[in-house]
Amino acid sequence: MKSKEPRIKLSGNSFKAVAESATDSIFVADENSTILYCNKKALELFGYQEEEIIGESLTILMPERYRKAHFKGIKRFLSSGEPKWIGKTIEITALHKNKTEFPIELSLSAWKEEEKYLFAGIIRDITKNYNIMKEMGILQTISTAISKADSFNNALSLTIKLICQEGGWSCGEAWVLNRAKHMIEYAPVWYMSEEKFLPLFEVSKQATFRVGEGMTGSVFLNKTVWNPDITAHDSNFKRKEIAKQVGLKSVLGVPIVTHEGEVFTSLMFYLSESKEEDTIFTRIVTSLAIQLGTFLEKKQIEERLKQSRDFYITILEDFPALIWRTNVDGIPEYYNKTWLKFSGNCLEDELKKDWSTSIPKEDFDRLTNAFQNASKDKSTFEVEIRMKRYDGEYRWILSLGRPFYDIDKNFKGYLGVSYDITDQKRNIAKLNKSYIELQQTTEELLSTEEMLHKLNFELEKKVEDRTKDLNEKNDTLLKINTDLDNFIYTASHDLKAPIANIEGLTTMLDDVTSDPTFRNKEVISLIEMIKTSISKLKNTIMDLTEISKIQRMEKDDIAPQNLSEIIEDVKVLFFDQIKKSNAEIRLNLDDCPVIEFSKKDLRSIVMNLLSNAIKYRSERRPEVLIKCYQKDQYAILSVTDNGIGIDLKHAKLFKMFKRFNTETEGTGIGLYIIKRIIDDAGGKIEVESEVGKGSTFSVYFKHQ
Ligand code: ADP
Repeated sequence: MKSKEPRIKLSGNSFKAVAESATDSIFVADENSTILYCNKKALELFGYQEEEIIGESLTILMPERYRKAHFKGIKRFLSSGEPKWIGKTIEITALHKNKTEFPIELSLSAWKEEEKYLFAGIIRDITKNYNIMKEMGILQTISTAISKADSFNNALSLTIKLICQEGGWSCGEAWVLNRAKHMIEYAPVWYMSEEKFLPLFEVSKQATFRVGEGMTGSVFLNKTVWNPDITAHDSNFKRKEIAKQVGLKSVLGVPIVTHEGEVFTSLMFYLSESKEEDTIFTRIVTSLAIQLGTFLEKKQIEERLKQSRDFYITILEDFPALIWRTNVDGIPEYYNKTWLKFSGNCLEDELKKDWSTSIPKEDFDRLTNAFQNASKDKSTFEVEIRMKRYDGEYRWILSLGRPFYDIDKNFKGYLGVSYDITDQKRNIAKLNKSYIELQQTTEELLSTEEMLHKLNFELEKKVEDRTKDLNEKNDTLLKINTDLDNFIYTASHDLKAPIANIEGLTTMLDDVTSDPTFRNKEVISLIEMIKTSISKLKNTIMDLTEISKIQRMEKDDIAPQNLSEIIEDVKVLFFDQIKKSNAEIRLNLDDCPVIEFSKKDLRSIVMNLLSNAIKYRSERRPEVLIKCYQKDQYAILSVTDNGIGIDLKHAKLFKMFKRFNTETEGTGIGLYIIKRIIDDAGGKIEVESEVGKGSTFSVYFKHQ
């Protein structure tokens, strides 16, 4: 049973007055750890009323875990008298009436009264210090960690992870303002203590907010947000559904601001249970966010700078020209990749290079002069020099240099670009050469043209002379031809009489040989032979007469002819041969157009063709087809036989006296006559033939 009376007799009012006005908490307890006295400050600190605490055990002021050790310590002190903690100040955790723990600094003292020990404890609340320490610890840990991060996202990710781990948050995520600064996007970094929160991030990845929209968006209005239940009906948390699904309740949203006070990132931390605001933690994170802001902003700017720097450096490095830079003293300090490829050196060697080994002296002097002159007034320069390439070949280089300045307009050296112009130079030389050659060729062409004119003139004259000559020769030939025709005419005419005479004489000889007394058989056969020869001669003369008639244009009138009538006449003429050979002659004249021709000539053509068709027959019974039809501008008369045929490869059919068959009687004039007639009339004659099968002769009459 506890007593309500203070069991200590304090030595006068002076102690009490001191104790009550002390800023620290003071407890006095006996050997049994019963609280005999505590000052007002102590009651405030632990949350008790005086009557609740006096007579209670000291252990109600300490967490359960320390109680055993406490009694052990008292016991040891009472038995041995050896103080371990007495007279010392220690840091320890105390227990508030509301069961929360808090750090205290405890100074213990002990003294004897009436043979019993009394103990006094002076307690100072060090929560504030402790929090500052803790805060500093977390800040330290996070700052150290993120300072080592190599990218903005890594730093962000580490921050979230450490805050979650230090503060016991279930998961955390980050949001960033996009480059256009009008939308808030999910940063691809998050931390989760358990896999089950993953769906929140899957949903968040797709989400975007406007500044001020929802809970996430309102953080971007530079507000720290705490909500003990985001799943509550009235909460403005947009991803309520998924938060409910994965079991998240409380949220802490902290803005991270730039040094100009603009929010560029926010951190959101979630807890599975509903929790009222932890002001200490909020303060830690908020103060961390301020530090982080500067750091992350720097990191982000650095990163963007590096990206654009890398971009420009890549362009510079791969630029298809040799790029160089000097320092203020004109000493080279940079060459791009293209330059190093040209020289075949690494940057280090190139920077140390002795120029006289790669640029001819006169060119080097020119370069130095140009550079020095330009340097005087910081102007640009341009110079052409020869420079040795990696393969030892000297190339022509056009080098352009200009001064460059930093942001503050301080001269920083020369920046230049050099082009390999060897090929251009060669091309120009080639072009010049080609131009000269072209000029020469043009001149040559002009003189050739002149010569050609001259030659042409001479040629024309020669042609004129030749034409004259030819005309003369032609006249002579025509004369000879006429003479020949006349000769044939007179010869054939004049020969008729003597042949008739010979014929008469042979007839007279017949009278002699027919006498039965005439026995000389040899003479008889000779007379027969003479007769045959005379007959042949007569035929030849007849044909020759025919030719000379054509030559002399002794043509009868051109008129529409009745072909079938002419054919019938000819058939009568050849009655004997047809009968003897048992030839079948068929006509197909149904499509025959009107043929306008000389009747005599047409008759002659039909006669010759039909006679040949029967004459040059084979073993077979002769079959002759006479056809007439129209094709294009021609009326065609064709005579087809099934005779012996002609080997057309060798045949020059239409030449005078040409014969390919000597077994049969003939003069070799018939086809020649046809050709002459038809050629003169502007037509033509064609033959198709196959040896052993037969022939077709087609005569083309020009049809008006
Ligand atoms: P000829 O009949 O008097 O010998 P042609 O000028 O009419 O003279 O014929 C020339 C040659 O062409 C003939 O000797 C003959 O060899 C050949 N010939 C003409 N027509 C035919 C034909 N229908 N079939 C076979 N051979 C032919």
